[in-house]
Amino acid sequence: MAIRTIREIGDPVLNKKCKEVKEMTERTRELIDDMFETMYEAEGVGLAAPQVGILKRICVIDTGDDPIVLINPKVVETSGEQTGHEGCLSVPGKSGIVTRPNYAKVVAFNEEMQPIEVEGTELLARALMHEIDHLDGHMYTELVEGPLYEIGSEDDEEYYEEDE
Ligand code: ZN
Repeated sequence: MAIRTIREIGDPVLNKKCKEVKEMTERTRELIDDMFETMYEAEGVGLAAPQVGILKRICVIDTGDDPIVLINPKVVETSGEQTGHEGCLSVPGKSGIVTRPNYAKVVAFNEEMQPIEVEGTELLARALMHEIDHLDGHMYTELVEGPLYEIGSEDDEEYYEEDE
């Protein structure tokens, strides 16, 4: 396993549409392992392959329950709404307010290329929507309402206080 370099906003690879994965190969397994390692090292809850410069439809998510691998994921159902802070490992040190569905259901393939269904609410729903957007070249910064905050800045903290 190895930690890969996380591409940052402005890198054109983050705005490209990724290709479907047709079969599981040793190289792709290694990519998935590296994506988990890179995500954990950066203390993120999700990472998509284009964020490490690979244009494949793969993302990894871990919101604290079980690690999830999504290959060729498709959002099949959403409902409700949540508005809150969102960040991205490709936009280091920043966060912004984004409205997302409060529930999302996704169909995908796992590492064995078996079909799976993943559904989540709140943080998991947000992570699913955010990571799958990356596979189509979209960043959360396109959806931000208002400014991007510096994480830990006064504005950021004030927001949290008002929110409580
Ligand atoms: Zn992201």
